[in-house]
Amino acid sequence: MSTAVMALSGGMDSTSLLLRLLREGNTVYTIGFDYGQKHVIELARAQQNIDYLAKCGYQVDFRIVDLSSIMSTFAGSLTSSEKVPEGHYEEAQMKSTVVPNRNAIFSSIIYGYALSLSKKLDVDVSISLGVHSGDHAIYPDCRPEFYDQLNDAFELGNWESDRVRLELPYIDGDKVTILNDAIISCDQLNLNFDTVFANTNTSYEPDNQGRSSGKTGSDIERILAFHSIDRIDPVPYQQSWDDVLKHALSIQADYLDNIYREKLSELQYQVTRNGATERAFTGLYDKHFVKGSYYCICCNHLLFKSDSKYNSGCGWPAFHTEDANAQISRIKDYSHGMVRIEVKCSKCDAHLGHVFTDGPKEHGGERYCINSAALKFKED
Ligand code: FE
Repeated sequence: MSTAVMALSGGMDSTSLLLRLLREGNTVYTIGFDYGQKHVIELARAQQNIDYLAKCGYQVDFRIVDLSSIMSTFAGSLTSSEKVPEGHYEEAQMKSTVVPNRNAIFSSIIYGYALSLSKKLDVDVSISLGVHSGDHAIYPDCRPEFYDQLNDAFELGNWESDRVRLELPYIDGDKVTILNDAIISCDQLNLNFDTVFANTNTSYEPDNQGRSSGKTGSDIERILAFHSIDRIDPVPYQQSWDDVLKHALSIQADYLDNIYREKLSELQYQVTRNGATERAFTGLYDKHFVKGSYYCICCNHLLFKSDSKYNSGCGWPAFHTEDANAQISRIKDYSHGMVRIEVKCSKCDAHLGHVFTDGPKEHGGERYCINSAALKFKED
């Protein structure tokens, strides 16, 4: 049996990580940090999960380290009277939720604890942290290069550091990856997913009953992740799930719309986001027959390969088959007094064009009639 040490904040990422470590058969030692955070309720929720796990037969050591005397004086909206910003989790104003040097401080303690356990128990110890790609935009101390260098420094500064290794299993994933991982863990460990996640807190500013507002960046990210896996978040909110979800989706839509407006030309924007059609015979890829792949202009999702492109003569790029993993959405379109099948990017909902049944029979008989403005080509 291997030994693992991790920070258990009481949020959904570290909770999922704990389940993963248990699933992998580790003996797990966890540390929670009281750093004067407004959402210190997360530690009480973590304790509830530790108790639930014990009831289910999984013993986990949980210690709370009190750093509040110094860290409650730190700058930032999590530890001061400054208001926690609302909105999308990748917006610049979320930087006020960064606590100066937080992860270096926490990691330092975790590393010292892991090395000490390694000596005391005469075992190798892994340190696992639940950081993920969604954190990278706003939190520089969640980026892989930061942890690489921190680990190098800890190795240089300690004897027998070869017995301790750092693992970041979610570093390339996001909150959806993490929830899906937790579903697997709950199945394998015979735990109730909703009980586990009701015993977490992600909100930076819960009310005095511990209910999330559903409006801070961390709330929005969590709500959208639960929505992506088709589940209702079991954690208490100040409004109904339908209301917090509606709000989160509108924040996400506004955020993406700003990005699209910035990165797309007017024509690309009108075609993909407003369902417009470029004029026939004007598009960049109408008569384009170079070997390569065609991606969604908005989100880079692979849609078509050049070997399915043919000259239909209709004035727009024509493909007889979509890429095997494209999963292009099809929607009945009743506009302009016709019934047509509209095709959209399944990842970002960009309008691409339509699909008709007058394509080459030897390839299934379909013709994807796609706007060049919805595509980005990359040569092989
Ligand atoms: Fe897309």
